[in-house]
Amino acid sequence: MKAKKQLVGLPSYKPGKPIEEVKKEFGLEKVIKLASNENPFGASKQVKAAISEAAGNTAIYPDGYAASLREEVASFLDVDQNQLVFGNGSDEVIQMLCRTFLSPENNTVTAHPTFSQYKLNAVIEGSEVKEVPLKDGVHDLDAMLEAIDEKTRIVWVCNPNNPSGTYNTESDFLAFLQKVPKDVLVVSDEAYYEYVTANDFPETIPLLKQYENLIVLRTFSKAYGLAGLRVGFGVGNPKVISLLDPVRPPFNNNAISHVAAIAAVKDQQFIKDCYEKNKEGIDQYLQFCEKYNLKYYPTQANFILIDFKVSGDVLFQYLLERGYIIRSGEALGFPTCIRITVGSKEENDGIISELSAWLEKAQVAQ
Ligand SMILES: *Cc1c(COP(=O)(O)O)cnc(C)c1O
Repeated sequence: MKAKKQLVGLPSYKPGKPIEEVKKEFGLEKVIKLASNENPFGASKQVKAAISEAAGNTAIYPDGYAASLREEVASFLDVDQNQLVFGNGSDEVIQMLCRTFLSPENNTVTAHPTFSQYKLNAVIEGSEVKEVPLKDGVHDLDAMLEAIDEKTRIVWVCNPNNPSGTYNTESDFLAFLQKVPKDVLVVSDEAYYEYVTANDFPETIPLLKQYENLIVLRTFSKAYGLAGLRVGFGVGNPKVISLLDPVRPPFNNNAISHVAAIAAVKDQQFIKDCYEKNKEGIDQYLQFCEKYNLKYYPTQANFILIDFKVSGDVLFQYLLERGYIIRSGEALGFPTCIRITVGSKEENDGIISELSAWLEKAQVAQ
């Protein structure tokens, strides 16, 4: 049997290590996962109530059009219902975008390093991927603009960027958007939008009126705490959205995820609380970095990328043995960094104290 030639040797996505596996491997009773930017506070209580209520209805197919969720999100964002497409996570919206627009005859422009799914899905479609290096950890929008040619169909802006947490400002993004050819789709992937604190972060939804070639991705997986249920969405021009619909699998969100996401949107107080706690958590890490003079990337998200000047795998293993799962930068394009998801205050204190011990020991050894 032979797979498509572009799939040969293609690595599959490597997720953060599962908690149960680490417990078994190291004989640990408690393992804390701060590896995949999930919400350490879970989801809103109202989400849990909505899920229990819906648990009895599993025999019926979900609404393929996601009508109730669509209504809720459209009204929350103040957009028309036909501007939305829902995916099994925004990962699936990325997949749908690639299936719809990319082929061996064209190309797509991404930053590097950035979220791996843009490239992976583009490669599967046989499209050429033009990767533009980050500049000091930030998307180099001028260079990305230059990389666009007559064969380019999609340009991806991950804002804030995963794994660096950095962002492009409103004025930079606008200047970029104005110069991108109208037949090139600009994807603004805003998976961490709810955590952003910067005042000059772009508000992209109002720009959709003016820019038909813009699509914004958001997700319920991060701040909303629904990563396990898989629901994300795209907001764009109805014409673009209708092009995506034929490639969308008919029942791509499950019924439980619909009710959970509706309840999640309704509880904005929960999001506000998580935003505040995340900000305090980031401060814990910033103080730690300042104290030990570590280079870090200024973050607008719920994770931080810190440079320890040794292979990220070393600290990954060190923390793993002590019951913390984080991400090594080796797999993320920042080999001497680790990416830590901001946890609860206690979790952050715990990880910081382990890292401090490691640094102090390393200093003595020198
Ligand atoms: C986590 C993440 C996603 C995927 O989220 P899902 O909605 O869970 O598929 C998309 N983009 C970025 C940048 C992410 O970090």
